[in-house]
Amino acid sequence: MDAEGRLLEDLDPDQLGAVTAPRGPVCVLAGAGTGKTRTITRRIAYLVDRGHVAPGQVLAVTFTKRAAGEMRTRLRSLGVGGAQAVTFHAAALRQLRYFWPRVIGDAPWELLDGKLRLVGQAANRIGAPTSAESLRDLAGEIEWAKASLVAPDDYPAAASRTQRDVPLPADQVSRVYQGYEQLKTRARMLDFDDLLLHTAAILEEHPDVATEFRDRYRCFVVDEYQDVTPLQQRVLDAWLGGRDDLTVVGDANQTIYSFAGASPRPLLDFPRRFPEAVVVRLERDYRSTPEVVSLANRVIGAARDRPAGSRLRLVGHRPPGPEPKFSEFDDEPSEAQAVADRIGALLRNGVPASEIAILYRVNAQSEVYEQALAEAEIPYQVRGGERFFARPEIRQAMVSLRAAVTGAPESELPQVVREVLKPHGLSLEPPTGGAQRERWESLLALVELAEELDTVVPGADLARFVAELEMRAEAQHPPTVEGVTLASLHAAKGLEWDAVFLIGLTEGTMPIQHADSDDAAIEEERRLLYVGVTRAREHLWLSWALSRNAGGRRTRRRSRFLYGLLPEDHPAARPVGGAQREAAPARRSIRVECRVCGDVLVSTPAIKLGRCPDCPSDVDEELLERLREWRKAKAGQLRVPPYVVFTDT
Ligand code: ATP
Ligand code: MG
Repeated sequence: MDAEGRLLEDLDPDQLGAVTAPRGPVCVLAGAGTGKTRTITRRIAYLVDRGHVAPGQVLAVTFTKRAAGEMRTRLRSLGVGGAQAVTFHAAALRQLRYFWPRVIGDAPWELLDGKLRLVGQAANRIGAPTSAESLRDLAGEIEWAKASLVAPDDYPAAASRTQRDVPLPADQVSRVYQGYEQLKTRARMLDFDDLLLHTAAILEEHPDVATEFRDRYRCFVVDEYQDVTPLQQRVLDAWLGGRDDLTVVGDANQTIYSFAGASPRPLLDFPRRFPEAVVVRLERDYRSTPEVVSLANRVIGAARDRPAGSRLRLVGHRPPGPEPKFSEFDDEPSEAQAVADRIGALLRNGVPASEIAILYRVNAQSEVYEQALAEAEIPYQVRGGERFFARPEIRQAMVSLRAAVTGAPESELPQVVREVLKPHGLSLEPPTGGAQRERWESLLALVELAEELDTVVPGADLARFVAELEMRAEAQHPPTVEGVTLASLHAAKGLEWDAVFLIGLTEGTMPIQHADSDDAAIEEERRLLYVGVTRAREHLWLSWALSRNAGGRRTRRRSRFLYGLLPEDHPAARPVGGAQREAAPARRSIRVECRVCGDVLVSTPAIKLGRCPDCPSDVDEELLERLREWRKAKAGQLRVPPYVVFTDT
């Protein structure tokens, strides 16, 4: 087959239309897994192959280094070297390095690596709080403002207009922002957002530079365009300079960075802005089984106020696979254990570990899963975050806990741990501000571990607890190999795995608590769930636990997003209206792994456990009875609730 044939191979007619469209504006509006990323890499290769552009004239931008790297790999495998596939920031940095000496005339300013020090100085000046998390939240606000093209003076009005969850009174944020900009300019430094701002400004203000640049780059491509910020859009417009050789692809239903200033508007308005654009809608989903696709359609079908252009339906195109599974657990350790068991079964069935992912809403959720996987000797890697015990707040907390051991006092262990962690930021109520909250959640996870130990080993003291934590930290340190991926839903965007576990689907976590009073934030949470569901090629498990600890109070309610998704015969599928839903009465569940197909079944007294729904095997009632007896006998003594694996020997 000739090169062109190869390039057009494996494309459906709609994809082909986008790949071979003549030069000029092209917009692909399509749902997850429909081949958007595939389409743009093929389009670049096609344009190069046809001689429409030289590889060096192509500038393809994406939002993460990983996505950019993947695009370069795909391009190389299509025989296209030399095309730039980079993040917005990398492109801007490269251009500034080149143009700066000519335009500004002195040595390039230094790149500010991490802005916390300067934010700290600015905060200190006005007497604002300077804890590490408070500074991270302030830095986040500054980033949002710059990405949204909001100047320091305009911050309070913009924050109130967009109903931001501000970490400090808005006028204080505004003053810190102002102070930070001054300090940075005085030190002749640029932060990441400045790279974009200066790139746009130089092109806007220096026609000679703009001409040179536009001679050099003639073809622009943007992936994941639904998450573009006003600042990035400004850079893109400066690059184009009125030209229209732009291909964008995106899915408005996957906008998950609104909190950071991103908006799907430029994507949805593209056909209006460029009336002559070739607009392609893809609906065949090549990634996932029809079962997963149908669930994804239901998740996003329930979204409110979907703008025109985002109402895309996915049509599954792969052979059928297993139904997505929904599992409710009494507590998180049981949930994690079941996930680890299930992963064990997948590995035994030949699914590579690198094709399996556990996805969660916040990084603090990873700990129990790291533990369960480590115990099962299943290799894993945490993407886009650090392993639990390597996180700075946990390392600092460990220092204090160790130091407190010599005192080991009257009160009960969880209370002691709470006291020790209070100065670290463990307030009673979760703080506002994402970074502070994340720290708070991590610290709370330690208290919950203390509660767990206290239940299992009544009277355990602080020394025993610290020893337990050290053991866990040790267990979590196998060298990183190509293992199971643990990642937040945000970090999973654009990626895919054969098997995906979406865990922790309870109110307060998914949707996250601070989204509760804000309809727009709830919709962003729903889109996150949609992103999660659509990462799965074949196996998809959705799970949640009603309490954090084994034997703990069942204070959690399953996520509102689950209603309408659960199969009718699922024990947790009760029709309940509105957001104020009652928790189901506590159930004792027994998990059994089918010895034939390896499925983990959850049995509650309400459903008779007899047959595996996926295969014709009967579950051995006698073994089940023995399991019940054993569980009764061991009540209160087991660290994790019992489970039995009936392996096929
Ligand atoms: P997302 O919205 O999640 O970023 P996407 O639309 O970019 O998804 P891709 O990652 O390009 O989708 O493609 C999803 C999967 O489907 C990939 O494994 C890709 O190789 C495969 N695929 C895409 N188009 C086709 C096709 N025409 N035939 C077979 N497989 C395809
Ligand atoms: Mg993609």
